[in-house]
Amino acid sequence: MENKKYTKESWLAEGRRLFGTDYTKYRFRCPKCGNVATGQEFKDAGADPNAMYCECIGRHVPGKGCDWAAYGLFDICTVHVDGQPVFEFAPLEEEQREEVY
Ligand SMILES: [Zn+2]
Repeated sequence: MENKKYTKESWLAEGRRLFGTDYTKYRFRCPKCGNVATGQEFKDAGADPNAMYCECIGRHVPGKGCDWAAYGLFDICTVHVDGQPVFEFAPLEEEQREEVY
């Protein structure tokens, strides 16, 4: 898996490039279970949308079978922002490409 390192500025810029400025449209993939969650799902779950890049939606929605958090004891994230582990961006185009293969 590809490791990516960002500064906070470049990471925010990449997020805007992929998803625009509407945080409900942002999509992040949990490095543990591979589930992709949107800001909208965090909002719907009553969770802090700021947690979407560091917490699995499973922490907030029952039945997902995963409660991974990027800030936990173990770092399995491939993306780091100023040295902090975060979930990777999961743009829609990428998912559509994966479906083709
Ligand atoms: Zn997860």
